[in-house]
Amino acid sequence: MNGSRDMTSKRTDYLEWQEYFMAIAFLAAKRSKDPCTQVGACIVNDDNVIVGIGYNGMPKGCHDDAFSWAKKSDDKLENKHLYVCHAELNAILNKNCADIKGCTIYVALFPCNECAKVIIQSGIKEVVYMSDKHAHKCNTIASKKMLDAADVKYRQFIPKKNKIVIDFSEIDWNNMSQLPETPVKRNKSAEEGDITITNGCEAVQHLQKTPEKRLKVKDNISIGL
Ligand SMILES: [Zn+2]
Repeated sequence: MNGSRDMTSKRTDYLEWQEYFMAIAFLAAKRSKDPCTQVGACIVNDDNVIVGIGYNGMPKGCHDDAFSWAKKSDDKLENKHLYVCHAELNAILNKNCADIKGCTIYVALFPCNECAKVIIQSGIKEVVYMSDKHAHKCNTIASKKMLDAADVKYRQFIPKKNKIVIDFSEIDWNNMSQLPETPVKRNKSAEEGDITITNGCEAVQHLQKTPEKRLKVKDNISIGL
């Protein structure tokens, strides 16, 4: 194609499902306030529909600034491990369907023993993880012991790409080839039949088509139809 994209065939560089789900887990992790470890989790059903997302954070009502994020402190009550909800727990509690039996959970770090308990009890049947860096620790060994006993499969995700970049500037909002934005609300102050349009390009197009019609300019552009 001499470097130009073939616009008649489907793209070939689209994200595969697994990359997509793991990337969403990583994106969710960016919401975490934990200064040391940011983990996200994404639960997916058999139809590749996302049914739950979570990241590690303080419980509702326990303000991020009021509870300690320290891993070790002289004051034993100032330890984040006493308070933080792990990503897997939050993803399960955030589920948007009746149950998640048979689902798969994508998570950056191998689940700890506490999360393994919740994963098993929720009916999740597979764990796809990125890192197993705590494999030598008791809580990971215990986690695997329970997952094995409960016949929950787990496997490491090996990415095909090192990076997935989200670049908001990729979309050129001024590009006239895009469909015009859908009008979002009625302008109550305008006369009946007027409509408020938030897309300047569309307003210009309307104006060119109907020069005899009235044009009002406020925060948005209103055009009498
Ligand atoms: Zn955990």
